[in-house]
Amino acid sequence: MISSRSYDGLIVGGGLAGSTVAIALAQAGRHAALIEKSKEAQHKLCGDFLSPECLPFLRRMGIHPEAMGAETIQALRIVARDVIAEVPLPAPAIFPDQAKTG
Ligand SMILES: Cc1cc2nc3c(=O)[nH]c(=O)nc-3n(C[C@H](O)[C@H](O)[C@H](O)COP(=O)(O)OP(=O)(O)OC[C@H]3O[C@@H](n4cnc5c(N)ncnc54)[C@H](O)[C@@H]3O)c2cc1C
Repeated sequence: MISSRSYDGLIVGGGLAGSTVAIALAQAGRHAALIEKSKEAQHKLCGDFLSPECLPFLRRMGIHPEAMGAETIQALRIVARDVIAEVPLPAPAIFPDQAKTG
């Protein structure tokens, strides 16, 4: 619930983007109000793939997926019938595995 105090920012939506902005503002010492319409937590990430570009943002927020049991993904494999192509990723990605990371 939002009180009558003043805020530095108002964030609508507490998904990945909104939560990240709220954490960044709090870490910068700012007071932000976050409004989320859903009462239940939503299961994200759906496909369980965190690209390498995400990792610096997570670490800055104090989230270390590897320490929570996440696996690293080194390559991408595409399978079409009996043809298999595998390419290395430019940097390791993360498989959070919600069974381990919650
Ligand atoms: C099937 C599927 C698989 C995916 N797999 C991956 C993956 O493997 N890796 C990956 O990185 N990304 C994946 N994504 C994409 C990822 O889920 C989105 O990029 C990410 O959730 C976007 O974050 P967001 O905060 O912009 O939006 P959302 O996560 O959708 O959050 C928006 C929030 O705003 C709230 N909201 C909406 N309207 C209002 C309102 N009027 N007032 C208050 N609150 C409101 C919603 O309830 C919601 O909580 C996948 C997406 C799908 C659909």
